[in-house]
Amino acid sequence: MASRVKALILDRDGTLISHVPYLADPAQVMILPGVREGLRMALAAGMKLFVHSNQSGVGRGFFSLKEVEACNRRMIELLDLGAAPFARICIATERPDEFSTYRKPSPEFAREIAAEYGYALDEICYVGDRGSDLESAERAATRGVGVSTGLDDLQAEIDAAKFTHSYPVFARFDAAIFSLLTRAD
Ligand SMILES: [Mg+2]
Repeated sequence: MASRVKALILDRDGTLISHVPYLADPAQVMILPGVREGLRMALAAGMKLFVHSNQSGVGRGFFSLKEVEACNRRMIELLDLGAAPFARICIATERPDEFSTYRKPSPEFAREIAAEYGYALDEICYVGDRGSDLESAERAATRGVGVSTGLDDLQAEIDAAKFTHSYPVFARFDAAIFSLLTRAD
């Protein structure tokens, strides 16, 4: 299958794993339905995978970056897609009220990936469950698809944001990835 998309920037909480507020315990990491299948499809199609996660719990002093990394390791173990399925994981640790280079809706991580790996911006696609994931896509001029895993009304967030581009929303992660693999443009 041919796809213009060469790289996925994946949100973590509510997209790859169950959203547990201020997750810090690896024992609470649960892979969401369709994620393993979707990532397998993406990898088989030659896409590179990146993770971009806001973790203000670090900046708020609720837990440490080491605990975030332990949860990431558990996620990678449960995904069972090899030791390093992600080319890079960007953790934005800042609180919403402080200056941040990477906290979503920042476009910086996507711009960095594009420059470093030589992707056109429309060869990159954000996948996330929040308006801020798609706002990063909008601001960086990448593609974006949403997954509605039930915590927020993602479609309502998208409608309220009045984005310039359209971001389709899917009920499951694998359906979102399948849509990228099968679209012609
Ligand atoms: Mg999320």
